Amino acid sequence: MARYIFITGGVVSSLGKGLMAASLAALLQARGYKVRIRKFDPYLNVDPGTMSPYQHGEVYVTDDGAETDLDLGHYERFTGVSAHQSDNITSGRIYQQIIAKERRGDYLGATVQVIPHVTDAIKQFALADTDGLDFVLCEIGGTVGDIESLPFIEAIRQLRNELGREQTALIHVTLVPYISAAGELKTKPTQHSVRELTSLGVQPDVLLCRCEHPLPESERAKIALFCNVRPQAVIQALDASSIYGVPLQYHAEGLDAEVLRHFNIDNANLPDLSRWDDIVDRYQNPEGEVTIGVVGKYVGLPDAYKSLNEALVHGGMANRVKVKIQWIDAELFEKDDSEIVAQLEPMHGILVPGGFGERGSEGKIASVRFARERKVPFFGICLGMQMSCVEGARNTAGIAGASSTEFGDTDEPIVGIITEWMTEEGLEKRAAGGDLGGTMRLGAYEAKLAKGSKVSEIYGGALEISERHRHRYEVNGAYKDRLEEGGLMFSGMSPDGLLPEIVERPDHPWFVGVQFHPELKSRPFEPHPLFASFISAALRQSRLV
Ligand code: GLN
Repeated sequence: MARYIFITGGVVSSLGKGLMAASLAALLQARGYKVRIRKFDPYLNVDPGTMSPYQHGEVYVTDDGAETDLDLGHYERFTGVSAHQSDNITSGRIYQQIIAKERRGDYLGATVQVIPHVTDAIKQFALADTDGLDFVLCEIGGTVGDIESLPFIEAIRQLRNELGREQTALIHVTLVPYISAAGELKTKPTQHSVRELTSLGVQPDVLLCRCEHPLPESERAKIALFCNVRPQAVIQALDASSIYGVPLQYHAEGLDAEVLRHFNIDNANLPDLSRWDDIVDRYQNPEGEVTIGVVGKYVGLPDAYKSLNEALVHGGMANRVKVKIQWIDAELFEKDDSEIVAQLEPMHGILVPGGFGERGSEGKIASVRFARERKVPFFGICLGMQMSCVEGARNTAGIAGASSTEFGDTDEPIVGIITEWMTEEGLEKRAAGGDLGGTMRLGAYEAKLAKGSKVSEIYGGALEISERHRHRYEVNGAYKDRLEEGGLMFSGMSPDGLLPEIVERPDHPWFVGVQFHPELKSRPFEPHPLFASFISAALRQSRLV
């Protein structure tokens, strides 16, 4: 049976629990264990699909079409294990299921309560679908002490009783702040946070202490004494220069060894960390630098483009170059034309990422035009691909009024709402004016690539690929011939030949638009071919300017 490692956070939010979970999973994996990581989100949204990227960062989409927390992206990138719908649950989804059961009468008249109904649902979620796994890591979102997370902590308490201490571990991530006036690290917040946890009936086994300065032995001993753990189980987690250095750092601090010791597992055989050494080396010792301009809407909050940011870094690792990302607000170009040249001229590559809504769209279209005319490598993703088609329609196919129905009524709907598409289960249909939540074309779909196209070459000669999607609109196939006359080639289509998946410009050094989100599948050890190729084109461009 799988062993369970629960990860909670205390003192403040944003301590990097997700990275911690991903790093520990990677270390266990490097010792040969099979791992899976799950995220429990205490908020009441059913999923993050309708949450603003400003509030919640990116929505990460899995192969099976779940819209999940961005931490699942870290999990995939660090372990290479594809996440599923069953790896992310929210309080909202649990309540939705319980209330649906209650309405059906499934509880046979019983009073439905947080304990046992909500806690049972949490436990079932943790225990489901774990065959063949050695370790299941469960990260609890939020901070211990939040009202919302109480049922999750209670479920952990029960699970630890039911499965036994030798089958479960609890790692609590805390902050040990440095008070510069006193020149000291302070352990009191950690003590309070652990007291809060223990008052809920849960004793942590390992404390991961985030700190800006090394934790002296005396403070480590003090934390151990007051928090009832072994001094060796108080692990210092200093800020790292790159997230990819975190597994190596935690290993050096003894985290994986301490976790194995807790489970009475012999930890004599050391993990094979060579692939981590390799990517850290590629990251820390680049042989060049390229600058990529990302023209988007949510540029004030890089978490909104988390996977994109990482995929660009991976593309850099593949080429052994540092990728400098210039986040550019598309609206800037709408206010002042001269900004287009001023901002974009220094770029070695231009990327228009995914997004929703009209705001900034004209600025994005202007960026596509700049990249096309100046022959600067251009990568359009999802909305970016749609905008590359609108730009092509307006400026190379003579369709002056070209637009997307996402932005309002238009006579030339180059991009329109998808109302039907094929899935493995059959034809999927949507009403044009339906709900926003859960109504997109989501998850992995196949695309057929044109023989001899640039994208087929980039994918190593493949003629069929599978990539993850998250969109409600599509490029209108009715305009295909006219757009192709304008120089855009439709080099990837859905297998039924109806939905455009990829466009490219054969007369341009590197101009690719994709309807899917390749960034979701890029991993540091396996940089996505489109990102590796885009960065390599940007590198060639950097030698020209
Ligand atoms: N807003 C566009 C659509 O729904 C693009 C979505 C995206 O970029 N993820 O089709």
